[in-house]
Amino acid sequence: MTKKIAAGNWKMNGLVSDLSDILDIDRQIEGLECTTVICLPATLLYASDGDPRQRVEIGGQYCHPAASGAHTGDISAPMLADAGATWCITGHSERRTDRNETDADVRAQTEAVWAAGMTAILCIGETLAQREAGETLAVLTAQLAGSLPEGATADNTVLAYEPVWAIGTGKVASPEQVAEVHDALRAQVGADMSLLYGGSVKAANAAEIFALANVNGGLVGGASLKAADFVPIVQALA
Ligand code: PGA
Repeated sequence: MTKKIAAGNWKMNGLVSDLSDILDIDRQIEGLECTTVICLPATLLYASDGDPRQRVEIGGQYCHPAASGAHTGDISAPMLADAGATWCITGHSERRTDRNETDADVRAQTEAVWAAGMTAILCIGETLAQREAGETLAVLTAQLAGSLPEGATADNTVLAYEPVWAIGTGKVASPEQVAEVHDALRAQVGADMSLLYGGSVKAANAAEIFALANVNGGLVGGASLKAADFVPIVQALA
């Protein structure tokens, strides 16, 4: 069965003093029937694990495929899990672009996430040029084939469709565009895996997107940083 999941992605934002927003979110989502995850920068993971949280689950945003070793500046999946993470994003387009991460890298990272006992939020998405060329579904199918490892299940993986042109731009994909992609992804991954939409989700557009048949939640960047912005999104889903 799919699960309803509201996931926040803080990206490279947040100081220890901002963790109070997680406590605020935690308090305000009491009684809502969905899974709520915040993917934090690594510096905040351990601090957040010390909080008296009841409901918010914590994730990382990336991991190295190896468990440990001589990789200066990197962080491994067992380290994230040790600090309290139960989720980890893999294949975010910012990492595919900024760090040249390939589908093969994303596949290896996703396997590392599983090996550490966490759930992967695996991201795929097309660029504007690819969409305008009519290549959206072909691009997504290829990304999925290249980055989703054998052994993916509804328990170890959540798939996030994030059109690159909609991330951080304020341009949200239309319900028709989201539905077309999510229906196609549903046909590819089976009935049980949760499918999230990401890209400029905010309180004003969340309900319309979450009402679509094959959308099981959202991956939210900018609007996840403050409880006042994120809680209404969780409410729209629950
Ligand atoms: P955004 O980011 O909500 O700020 O567009 C979404 C994401 O990159 O996960």
